[in-house]
This record gives sequence, C-alpha cells and structure tokens, in this order.
Amino acid sequence: MEDRKLTVGLEIHVELKTHTKMFCDCINDPSEIYPNTHICPVCMGHPGTLPTINKKAVDLVLQLGLALGGTVFPKGRSKFDRKNYFYPDLPKGYQISQYDEPLVLGGSLNGIRITRIHLEEDAGSLTHTKNGSLVDFNRAGAPLMEIVTEPDIRSAKEAAAFGEELRRILRYLQTSDADMEKGLMRLEANISINMGTKVEVKNINSFKAVHDAIEYEYKRHNEALDAGEKIIQETRGWNAEKGITVSQRSKEDAHDYRYFPEPDLPPLYAEAFDLDGLKAAIPELPHEKRARFISEFNLKEADAYVITEDRAAAEFFEEAASELKEKTTNPAYGLLFNYFTSDVWGIMRTENITLSDLRLTPHNFAQLVAMVAAGDISSRGAKDALAHMITTGATAETTVTQKNLRQISDTAGLELIAHKILTENPKAIEDYKKGKLESLHFLVGKAMKETKGTGNPAMLREIFEKLLK
Ligand code: ZN
Ligand code: MN
Repeated sequence: MEDRKLTVGLEIHVELKTHTKMFCDCINDPSEIYPNTHICPVCMGHPGTLPTINKKAVDLVLQLGLALGGTVFPKGRSKFDRKNYFYPDLPKGYQISQYDEPLVLGGSLNGIRITRIHLEEDAGSLTHTKNGSLVDFNRAGAPLMEIVTEPDIRSAKEAAAFGEELRRILRYLQTSDADMEKGLMRLEANISINMGTKVEVKNINSFKAVHDAIEYEYKRHNEALDAGEKIIQETRGWNAEKGITVSQRSKEDAHDYRYFPEPDLPPLYAEAFDLDGLKAAIPELPHEKRARFISEFNLKEADAYVITEDRAAAEFFEEAASELKEKTTNPAYGLLFNYFTSDVWGIMRTENITLSDLRLTPHNFAQLVAMVAAGDISSRGAKDALAHMITTGATAETTVTQKNLRQISDTAGLELIAHKILTENPKAIEDYKKGKLESLHFLVGKAMKETKGTGNPAMLREIFEKLLK
C-alpha cells in the first residue's frame, strides 16, 4: 500500500455556559430533564417577536478567540445572518448564525490553524420512538459556538489531541462544561487523502470516536484507491458500536441555506466590548501550566497532563507544592503528586466529593507529605492520617499526634526495643545464626508490634542485623 497523505479539518460545536439563551430570557440549562419547560415566543419563533443579543455569550466567544491568538472583530464589526432550512427541531425555519462576518478569524491551537469562530443558536432535540418523534425545545435558541479549523491535521492521534486540548481550554475559561456525552461539545471531521475528495463524518461523541472514525476513513479511502475506485463526496455517520462509518447523504443535495443578514439584529462593533478586560481575565492556559509544573516541580510530562487536566486540582496541587518548596530543603514533589492523585483522589471518588467539599487544605496536605518525606510517619500512617484530615480538616501535626502515628526513628529508642525483643526470643536468634534469614522478619515484626506500628521498619532491620552479628 502506498503511503498516502491524510488531511483532516475539524468543525466543533460547543454549547456555551450562560445563564440564559442566546436571544431571549429563557434559562439555558442543559441538564433540564423536563421537556419544553424553558421556552418562550422568541425561541419558538412566533411572529412579531424580536431577538435580543446575550452579551455574555459574545464575551465568551471573544475571550476564546483572544486566548487562541485569533483576530476578533476582523473588520471592526461582526454581524448575524439567517441560515434558512427546515427541520422539525427548528421552530423558526431558520437558524441565526454568522456567515461572512464572524466574531473571530484565525488563531491556532497545537500548531493547527483556526479558520474562524462564530456564534449561533442551537436547535431543539428530537427523540424518535416507535409511534413517532418527540421534540424538546429546551435547547432551541441556546448559545452555540462553532469553531472551524484549517485542514492542518495529519493523523487521527493529532485530531483527538486537538479536541482534548480545546476541551481543557474551554473548561479553564469556563466557556463551557464541554461534556461530549451530554452533547455540549460536538465534533465533525472533514477527511481527505492526497488532497482528494472530502468526506464529512458526523455523530462523533467522544475523543476515542474522533480517533477511530478518522483511522477507519483513512483505511477505507486507501482500500478504495488501491482498488481503483473513486471516493464519493458525502456525509457519513460514525457508528461507535460497529466501529464503522455509514453513508448518510451524498453532497449533491447539499443545502443552499440562502444566508442573508439577520434583519432583526444590529451588527456588533468592537468598541462596545471590553476586549482588554476579557484578555486580562484569561487565566494561565493548560499548556502554560504544564510547562511551568514540569520546570518548577520536576514533574514528568505525563504527570503534568494529569494534574492540570482540572484547573481547581492544578491550583490545589500548586499551593501545596509551593508550601513544600518554602518549608523544606529538598521538596518531595513526586511524593506530593502520588499522594494527591492516588490517595486524595481515591478518597474523593469513594466518598463522592469534589475538591470544594474537601476539608483538607493544601497547607495541611503539604505538612503531611513533608512528614512522610522526613521519615516521621510511615506511608501506612500517612494514608490513615489523610483519610482523617480529608473529613475533619485537622492539621497533619494534630492528626499524627492524636492517632499516635509518629514513627519512632530515634536509634537509641529503637535499640532498647530490639534488645527487649531479642531477650524474649532466644530461638529466633539461634535460627538466624543457623542461616534462617526469615527470623529477621519475625524479629522486626515483633518490634513493630511492640511500637504499635510506629517503629521505623527499615531502621529496626538494620539494628537487628547489627546486634546479631
Ligand atoms: Zn425563549
Ligand atoms: Mn453550525
């Protein structure tokens, strides 16, 4: 098989996190379970009603555009257009969208150029049943952002990585919760090989699906070309269950949307928006945070990805890490990372609590990790202490003292205990001298019991070895 060049461009729709819908005062609540509760004459497209623009939605799009290095209000202004088509989930018979004057042009992410970002309204949703179809208009008129990339993507992996990084940014900026399972972020991929016929793949609702659908199409195109067949320009749907794409419609009947400027809405001008303020409010972005965590806290790249996936978690970690840096000479960042991602997250999962419910403070957490690093408590003891600190908010110092978890690491004290154990267990000494090395475990175990688990096992082992020489 000849090595053909894969070219992919993405079109991504994102539902914005606003209190109300795009052009009316209806609540924008994607988690609403009762159908048709958040509707009004405006979003139902009744005659005589007029849309008004939700400024928060415009701000969110502008801020994302600025974060991605795009040009906002490319011609000093931006306008809305009507995109006309019929579908049962579109009560107005048209969608208010943007055609030739989008809010944002250009920008890039992961080295992939962004073509444009525009703002529009979502349609309702249909549920097909045996006896007909049901329509829910709660989503109709919800603010929807569309991000289009240039065909710069060269592999399935790159496409998935782009989607994942975009989702992180959307969450950092609080543009959207961007949950793909909930349809808050929806992807379409335009795929072609050797710059040939383009095929559009829809129904992609996970990053794994993005990856798998592109791999599937690459293989399908290659096989067709090898067999001397022509690729048809069409829209295909990804079937995740079967792991295949299925033809939905050929592009010959592509819609003519008859775009024209929305007569009920005025154009938007750059002067009316606080662009400097929006730019200043952009937080440190995930890739910047990752780079900094790698250099400041010596994290491995993979660990930096894990810890910065969620902004609040990254901030918690950073506060604790800074505390370690300040208070200890050899800050145990690796230990901090491990206790956070395995123990703290583990307890949060089982207790079903979020970071904001956590009574553990970054300060107390850092103190505890410093104690582990110094050998003051065992890892077993640290786990017990953490469970307590997470639910009560107690400090590391108090918890360790109260629960008697401090590890005895003073040599004289441990030697005294070792002597006692040896006098009580003459047989073990004999066995050891005969070469039965397991007796050493036995003796260390006895000494640990004597200290109620607070002895430092490594030190005890050394002491016994020395005494038995
Ligand atoms: Zn409404
Ligand atoms: Mn769209």
